This record gives sequence, C-alpha cells and structure tokens, in this order.
Amino acid sequence: MERTAEEIAASYQAWLADETVLSSDPFPCAPQETHPPRAYPLFAKIIALSQAQTWDEAKKEWSLDWVRDAPSPMTCLCGHYPIKTICHISNRLTMNDAIVGNCCIHRFEEKHIAIVEALQRVARKPSASFPPTLIEVAFKDGVLDDWERRFYLDIRPKRVLSPKQYDMKLKLNHRVLARYLKQGGERK
Ligand SMILES: [Zn+2]
Repeated sequence: MERTAEEIAASYQAWLADETVLSSDPFPCAPQETHPPRAYPLFAKIIALSQAQTWDEAKKEWSLDWVRDAPSPMTCLCGHYPIKTICHISNRLTMNDAIVGNCCIHRFEEKHIAIVEALQRVARKPSASFPPTLIEVAFKDGVLDDWERRFYLDIRPKRVLSPKQYDMKLKLNHRVLARYLKQGGERK
C-alpha cells in the first residue's frame, strides 16, 4: 500500500533522529573534496538504505518518484531544515524509499533538479514545456505512450501551435503533472 507523504515524513523524522545510523558508517568512499560536510549525513543514510556500500554506486540505485510542496516544515536527510519541496525517491533494489529536499536531489542525478524545477514551472504556467528528459521518464513510466512522446518532442520547440496541438499539449502537461507533482497539504 502506498504511504502518504505525512506517513513517510513521520517515519523519516524518527529515522533522522537515530544517530546510530551515522556513527556506524565511516563513509567509506564519500568524495571529500567535492562535497561539503553537510553531504555526509545524506551519504550515510542513503548508503544504509542501499545495496551498494559506496555513495557513487549507491546513488545509482535511486530514482525520483514524485515531488510535492512540504505540508509542514521538514528536515532533509542531510539535516537541512526547513525544506519546502519534498522529493520522494525510491531504491529499485532494496525497495526502500526516502525524502530529500531541493538541497540534495541534484546529488543523485543532475537531471533530477531540472525535473523538479520544470514541474513547479508548469504548475504555475500550464502551457509551459517539460524538458525532454522528463518526457522520456514519463514514457518509460507508461504515463505517455509512444505517439504522445513523439508528439510532445515534436511540438515542444514550436512557438506557434494549432488549437488542436495546444489542447493536446495542455492535456499531456496535466497528465504528467498529476503523476509527478503531488498536490494537497497547505500550499501557499
Ligand atoms: Zn539536503
């Protein structure tokens, strides 16, 4: 059964407070020069939920499932507080899930932060365009079929659309948003 964002938040707040996770892991391969100290708690917590035992391998097991505004102020796995945007991620090998904020989602894959920003942009302006990376993800997830995927990539660079194309774009935007941007909670 799919847990609500509130349930995930509650379990992770409890888990965050568990310092034994941190002290039991010496960050075997944390890239010390390229990441500020703030990243270490994130690495340790994610490695503990992953199959791989190094950050560079463990991060590849995770994918972005959906994004939503935090219903109340929350703490990221890195310790950053408050986060306004919840990025729900899951591990395809261990089936674990976690939530991280904008501060850390880009540490997994560069494209994720672009996806988060695009979702928020289209939520504000329904006729805006999603990046090709998100269209490919939506196709892979079965949100768009092959015709819709090709249609979207084809009309995406066009500045003028026919009324039919415009309607179809809005329809696909709405569907992609509904899948990857969870609404609800206290939104500003
Ligand atoms: Zn963070």
